[in-house]
Amino acid sequence: MVLPVCDVCLKSGILCQGCENKLKSGEISQLDLDIAKVLFKLGEGKLGFKKTIEIGDIVIIITEKDQVGKLIGKSGKIVRELSRTVGKKIRVVGEDSDLRAVARDILAPARVSGINVVYGTDGEEKFKVRVMREDSRKLPGRLDILNDIIKMLTEQETVVVVDRN
Ligand SMILES: [Zn+2]
Repeated sequence: MVLPVCDVCLKSGILCQGCENKLKSGEISQLDLDIAKVLFKLGEGKLGFKKTIEIGDIVIIITEKDQVGKLIGKSGKIVRELSRTVGKKIRVVGEDSDLRAVARDILAPARVSGINVVYGTDGEEKFKVRVMREDSRKLPGRLDILNDIIKMLTEQETVVVVDRN
């Protein structure tokens, strides 16, 4: 697992020609760079990620499935530091995760009570993701934004709701 910027750049703090070109061409963003710097510093070169997605005031970091816990850090230490650096909420998601895992990672610390299939008036299949009622205040953002993120990551039609009871 690697960072989108090379070690030389992360150590020196100055971009080499290769990384400078990546930034200019849009292959990596300033946000990627900022996150890479923090991970390099805190992870002793062992932490990496694939890409980042920014939606509203939430940044989603996509990484390999087995790296999710490491990127979050003990008691959320690394995510907190990242959040402080970029000034946004951070969510870490494993790449190619299924709907259940993505919903859990995006909605945390609010807990998912269940996911079931519902059918729209047009007969279209949707996944209803239910959040525990007592956790509604712990949701990291607005329901519609969180739903958009889950949809985008899973390519499923979803609707996130808070349990009524
Ligand atoms: Zn470089």
